[in-house]
Amino acid sequence: LEVIASVEPRIADATRAELADQRASLKLIASENYASPAVLMTMGTWFSDKYAEGTVGHRFYAGCQNVDTVESLAAEHARALFGAEYAYVQPHSGIDANLVAFWSILAHRVEGPWLQKAEKKNVNELTEEDWESLRRELGNQRLLGMSLDAGGHLTHGFRPNISGKMFHQNQYGTDPETGLLDYDAVAAKVKEFKPLVLVAGYSAYPRRVNFAKMREIADSVGATLMVDMAHFAGLVAGKVFTGDEDPVPHAHLVTTTTHKSLRGPRGGMVLATEEYAPSVDRGCPMVLGGPLSHVMAAKAVAFAEARQDSFRTYAQNVADNAKSLADGLMKRGTKLVTDGTDNHIVLLDVSGYGLTGRQAESALLEAGVVTNRNSVPADPNGAWYTSGVRIGTPALTTRGFGHDEFDNVAELITQVLSNTQPGTTKAGTPSKASYVLGDGVADKVKAASAEM
Ligand code: PLP
Repeated sequence: LEVIASVEPRIADATRAELADQRASLKLIASENYASPAVLMTMGTWFSDKYAEGTVGHRFYAGCQNVDTVESLAAEHARALFGAEYAYVQPHSGIDANLVAFWSILAHRVEGPWLQKAEKKNVNELTEEDWESLRRELGNQRLLGMSLDAGGHLTHGFRPNISGKMFHQNQYGTDPETGLLDYDAVAAKVKEFKPLVLVAGYSAYPRRVNFAKMREIADSVGATLMVDMAHFAGLVAGKVFTGDEDPVPHAHLVTTTTHKSLRGPRGGMVLATEEYAPSVDRGCPMVLGGPLSHVMAAKAVAFAEARQDSFRTYAQNVADNAKSLADGLMKRGTKLVTDGTDNHIVLLDVSGYGLTGRQAESALLEAGVVTNRNSVPADPNGAWYTSGVRIGTPALTTRGFGHDEFDNVAELITQVLSNTQPGTTKAGTPSKASYVLGDGVADKVKAASAEM
């Protein structure tokens, strides 16, 4: 930090403050974690200075031999860790990984057959008229994903996202009574909509998914099954999700982030069957800029860590701790979506406290409990205010929290929520944003969490 301070002291100060905040608060954001010092240090090296567009052994720049080593090692560790046929470790983030996957599916399923039929080797050989026709064909494909309020991600066909604009999109939800995925309903929707791409995976669904069933459903209409395991990749790597719950043997393509439960650097990755590998390999420069070689190096280090036995213990603890947290909240009267969890996510419905998700999130933050507000199924408060708060166990499990600590976290959350009242607007009407937290509650909760 002294080196940084000698150039821009405010950045050094902000970095110190961030470390202090992350240490002092209870980090319960389900998509966050604490990467190891080895992973963090690997990101701060000279690989950051190197350009390496292209793929291993086939770069558009000279002098990429060391980047080739790094990218090959990251891919090798990823293949071994997940039992995947092919791994593409260049995506800069989860959204980028999904874009690579979408365009590889379009390249493999639409562009390839179109060129073959037109007896053309590649798009450079097309006349303007051909090109228009191919673009129409590419723009005329369908994608079905899980809706945002059921727990899906915006890249799964949500209209404001590019995935909802580049495809004709449709969404499946969860059972209105139980909040659980209803595979028969998904199958019926797939039969009716006939998507080219069926997306499975989630950001806020607190349950496991049967990917063997999802593959059967995709196969019923010849759809490509793409699973976005960004959230639960650590549970797959740590063999908590196996058999039908492991997406890798069932999906054509699996995308992920590397920084959530997987505990690596911020980044993304695509795993694919051999069939899709050539089109996935075109990710850069098809939709990606030059690879972040320093981050690919850190991915290799994180994957090597995840291949150790201790990571399996960690992943099992993440899932066990989520149960302890869910049980602790339910026994103290909080309603949870699906009445529990069997992954790393716990989704609170805070409407029982008379609060919006926004009010609950803010009150918890004031007490040093960092969470994020989240829609619940059919949320009457929409995606901005919401009625839910999403929490997760990956980060605090990395800090060594176990059953007793998570039961205590449930107690602290309950103290905050049950001592928070909705505020009023300047006009005196009920507010969905402002809140009033009881006197002394924040200090009491902060003191209790400092002891943990
Ligand atoms: N996919 C899922 C399921 C996610 O939950 C997220 C992030 O929250 C992403 C993709 C996007 O990841 P990133 O923020 O790295 O682009």
